[in-house]
Amino acid sequence: MILIDGGQGEGGGQVLRTALALSLVTGKAFRIDNIRAKRSKPGLLRQHLTAVQAATAVGGAETQGASIGSSRLDFTPGGLKPGAYRFAVGTAGSATLVLQTILPPLLLAKGPSELLLEGGTHNPFAPPFDFLSKAFLPLLKRMGAKIDARLERHGFYPAGGGKFSVRIEPTPDLQPLELLERGETVRRSARALLANLPVSIAQRELSIVQEKLGLAAHEIATEVIEQNPGPGNVLLVEIESEHVTEVFTGFGEKGRKAEDVARAAVDHTRAYLSAGAPVGPHLADQLLVPLALAGRGKFRTCEPSGHTRTNLDVIRRFLSADLRIEAEADGKWGVEVK
Ligand code: ATP
Repeated sequence: MILIDGGQGEGGGQVLRTALALSLVTGKAFRIDNIRAKRSKPGLLRQHLTAVQAATAVGGAETQGASIGSSRLDFTPGGLKPGAYRFAVGTAGSATLVLQTILPPLLLAKGPSELLLEGGTHNPFAPPFDFLSKAFLPLLKRMGAKIDARLERHGFYPAGGGKFSVRIEPTPDLQPLELLERGETVRRSARALLANLPVSIAQRELSIVQEKLGLAAHEIATEVIEQNPGPGNVLLVEIESEHVTEVFTGFGEKGRKAEDVARAAVDHTRAYLSAGAPVGPHLADQLLVPLALAGRGKFRTCEPSGHTRTNLDVIRRFLSADLRIEAEADGKWGVEVK
């Protein structure tokens, strides 16, 4: 049994999710202690427990310690069981992170899967659905994966109530990803999503983004989301380049000024644009597992975050792939599997 310290490095939910995903892929059992030890509310929260339950279902696994607040989990995978599943976080916890847990194994399963995921779709500290659909999944598709994801209802923190469906066809041989240059910028845009909030919030956000990023009027849009349990507000900046699309987000929340939401999105976007590498920090995080599973490939990113480094350490516990991260010229970094 592989022993994982859930408090290592970043010490958050990613350690658990990556371990679950790779346990299902490799068939190796693991025990994780100190789950999310570096978070203010450590242990399994609803979102993490839903990820454990999803992994248990699709992997015919046996578990011990799968309960709210638990800081230790034993996870013994059985065999992968592709099929139709519905997983509901039950709170506004991120449903996209539940998908992150079960997507790699289901890609490698013997049959197709149809998932319905419910909970938060646009949460702080998690990939918003648009990041999945515009940035991450297109790269997985480039690696040969056949995935179709559809947003059915937005779910914002704290009301939740979001829903999306995902169809996954088996892809036994993921192709290597080679993503070294961004290429020319093809399109830039900013969208402010609003549910049950005054439109002036979106206008304030977009005017800042427009000014700071030099966007034209036709490159900005307000999207009012009707019939949503919200309130909700998310600002999404999309940078489409020849070889990759990146999505940067500012999350609105009660008490946070629209101007601050806009500045957060602008800062992330500017950092990406000036770094010059094709892959931003969150996308780097998401690409590590697929890259390792493909067994070959390379992408260029900016200086790796604590998240990325921790993720790499967990991957190395399950896979023998020679996964390297090395500083290159001009502050860029290469992530490579040989
Ligand atoms: P906790 O740490 O409280 O358990 P968590 O379960 O959300 O929270 P983290 O370890 O913080 O776990 O991981 C969050 C994941 O969401 C990482 O994969 C990170 O790259 C991704 N992520 C966070 N913010 C964004 C964002 N704005 N866009 C895309 N991905 C994001």
